[in-house]
Amino acid sequence: NQTLAEFDPEVAAAIDAELGRQRDTLEMIASENFAPLAALQAQGSVMTNKYAEGYPGKRYYGGCEFVDITENLAIDRLKALFDAAYVNVQPHSGAQANAAAMHALISAGDTILGLDLAHGGHLTHGMRLNFSGKLYNVVAYHVDEATHRVDMAEVRRLAQEHRPQLIIAGWSAYPRQLDFAEFRAIADEVGAKLMVDMAHFAGLVATGLHPSPLPHAHVVTSTTHKTLGGPRGGVILTNDEAIGKKIRSAVFPGQQGGPLEHVIAAKAVAFKMAAQPEFKERQERTIEGARIIADRLNADDMREAGVSVLTGGTDVHLVLVDLRDSTLDGQQAEDRLHEVGITVNRNAVPFDPRPPMVTSGVRLGTPALATRGFGAEEFREVADILAEALKPEVADVESLRKRVAVLTDRFPLYPSLAPLT
Ligand code: PLP
Repeated sequence: NQTLAEFDPEVAAAIDAELGRQRDTLEMIASENFAPLAALQAQGSVMTNKYAEGYPGKRYYGGCEFVDITENLAIDRLKALFDAAYVNVQPHSGAQANAAAMHALISAGDTILGLDLAHGGHLTHGMRLNFSGKLYNVVAYHVDEATHRVDMAEVRRLAQEHRPQLIIAGWSAYPRQLDFAEFRAIADEVGAKLMVDMAHFAGLVATGLHPSPLPHAHVVTSTTHKTLGGPRGGVILTNDEAIGKKIRSAVFPGQQGGPLEHVIAAKAVAFKMAAQPEFKERQERTIEGARIIADRLNADDMREAGVSVLTGGTDVHLVLVDLRDSTLDGQQAEDRLHEVGITVNRNAVPFDPRPPMVTSGVRLGTPALATRGFGAEEFREVADILAEALKPEVADVESLRKRVAVLTDRFPLYPSLAPLT
């Protein structure tokens, strides 16, 4: 019955330090967010103890009556949120969701057509070392070199040439909306299935601020922890009954054993939160913040410093900073922002001349700051701090760090969470 601090002070201290880091810095990694306290409580609960192989009402273990309640809540809320007829809330992560969806739709050796990792795609969309690159024959599409937008003419050309069984639309680093209807038209032309991976923009879709892929895709996958703001995990959605059945058995027993029922309970909490009016207002601030940052980093003074924004702006929750003309590379920019208290990740830009470990880009996201409560005024200040920090001439790091501290102090994170130690 010892507490964490009593039994394992080393782990407790590291968790406290992580809470301090999240509180005292500006979290701008586009794939991160802050799960609500209610979701943390559900996830840190006794439901982690329960084996529940199978699905609600059809389990291979006894004693599942209460995890059935939470899994059914997660299922019903997810269906309502995205207007989907068949959903699966068991994938442990986004990568697991994609693996299961592919397992359901295609066979080893089949051809998949996905966005190149170096152009904003995800590892699971066909990267060489990933299961997707090893199991399937991968063809990659790209963004156009001039516009940096997905080249739909190339998608059609490659689809006709390679006749893939599966086309994947979705991204990890791309600041614009995709044309799902056009992707579906191309898939239909070549007899392919269309999978949309909305991991990044699911929160925007849930609130009607981004078109939904559900009417167009055969299957939609997502994570639950990015814009959707829930616990770390994955989900799969479809409106096709036969595909829904295949996904059911592809997740369990195809890919996974016992579902993480504590995480599924936290997913249920997050889906309830995503249906509240405040969540829509949060997603509006998320997009507005990204636009404010994109405008500032694309202004004339930044261009003179060799800094600009890919595609000239954003429609979503992230901004891709292009440092190809700057003496500052992606690694140096990431380090400098770290020094001022802003956490980001460097990111290769399409046609990047610098090596992948260095890169010529930075990916900036606004979901976590919007969750913290930031609105237009705060995002203008963040944009200004970013602009100063990203100019190659060494900025006054100390004064920028102080400006970050003013913002973090004004918007306390998890105010009721007490340190463990
Ligand atoms: N799909 C996309 C588009 C992603 O960006 C990510 C994560 O970054 C994933 C899937 C994988 O999610 P996870 O890290 O939960 O496996």
